[in-house]
Amino acid sequence: MEDFLFFSEQLTEDELLVQDTVRNFINEDVRPLLLNSYETASFPMELVQMLSSLGLFGMNLPTEYGGGGLNSICYGLACQELEAGDSGIRSFVSVQSSLCMYPIYSFGTKLQQKQYLPEMAKGNIIGCFGLTESNSGSDPSSMKTFAKKTDGGWILNGSKLWITNATIAKIAIIWANTDNGIRGFIVPSDSKGFNTTELKYKMSLRASITGEIGLNNVFVSDDNYLPGSDIGLKAPLSCLTQARYGIAWGAMGAARNCYEIALNYVKERKQFNKPIATKQLIQKELVDMYSEICKAMYLNLHVAKLKDQNKIDHVMVSLIKRNSCFEALKIARSARNLLGANGISLEYNVIRHMNNLESVFTYEGTDNIHTLSIGRALTGISAF
Ligand code: FAD
Repeated sequence: MEDFLFFSEQLTEDELLVQDTVRNFINEDVRPLLLNSYETASFPMELVQMLSSLGLFGMNLPTEYGGGGLNSICYGLACQELEAGDSGIRSFVSVQSSLCMYPIYSFGTKLQQKQYLPEMAKGNIIGCFGLTESNSGSDPSSMKTFAKKTDGGWILNGSKLWITNATIAKIAIIWANTDNGIRGFIVPSDSKGFNTTELKYKMSLRASITGEIGLNNVFVSDDNYLPGSDIGLKAPLSCLTQARYGIAWGAMGAARNCYEIALNYVKERKQFNKPIATKQLIQKELVDMYSEICKAMYLNLHVAKLKDQNKIDHVMVSLIKRNSCFEALKIARSARNLLGANGISLEYNVIRHMNNLESVFTYEGTDNIHTLSIGRALTGISAF
């Protein structure tokens, strides 16, 4: 994409290296798999080891736990390049890093950190994050899953729905109510009473596995309770803040890919004896797309710098997640329009991005929920 605002010049050599490495990986190793993966609604498992060897799991966690020790700009750029491929691939990395490794790092014991984090960084243990339930989505405080204290551990009962990687995960970070509020648990997927079912008929994020988790008298030992999660709902929300930050970058990767496909297409496609790129209406649409991508990238970069200065809060993240998802979806729809009938073909990729972005717009806090969160910060009034 043209870099009129010298975005690349804002990046260090290390950051440029991360961007180029992930971009090449997506173009060479991932793109060839996407059409089939999306068509057959399957996650290409062969990518797990490659993602790990590129250091994409736990990129910004300390190296002593197998993390990459990289800054938030690197993490953002990696998400952007991954999602320029497919939102499902970025989701895999977000769930593993921000929703599973992060809570173990932030709320786990030293023993739990040593036991799980290096193996998760290697991709030998895949995690999933169970917060949402069939009747508890935007309002997770209404969850019904319950953990009852017993000798040496806890008994978990309930169910979780819409869980990314549910059926392929070796461990699930399960959030459950207890007599003292919401707490987090590391639940091995081979625990007795733990079962999963894959969700079928998805028309979005098809290259990502989504499932349901059933918990029927599952015993979780005290060793697998996350003690730092005794801050209640703030614990899972803080994981979501990490993941949403990556989504803000990622959605713009999908948007950029849609823009680039549309730009190339309109320069080639002739109607009325001329390339459609010669038409003012078409150029305006491209300019609108390009402008929103530039604005969002600079906004994301700014928040990345604040994050590394520990000046970030959840309102800033709501602002960038909401902005990126809203604009990326609009850009994907524009690209779909500019490609005419070809726009609905998987072969041209934009419909895949467009459908994916419908999920990205909804998960990790819907557009409405982020609007309410920013509105509450502006007015001091909760309108939830
Ligand atoms: P609801 O909360 O029922 O919302 C329905 C509509 O009502 C939305 O438009 C919403 O904005 C609106 N709404 C709700 N409350 C208000 C209000 N107070 N004011 C105004 N409007 C309101 N969850 C996990 O825990 N782990 C995962 O790994 C995971 N992966 C996912 C993968 C995919 C592909 C998808 C689609 C979802 C995933 N989710 C996951 C669940 C996701 O986070 C929820 O779908 C999301 O939080 C919204 O919840 P809901 O679907 O129940 O919608």
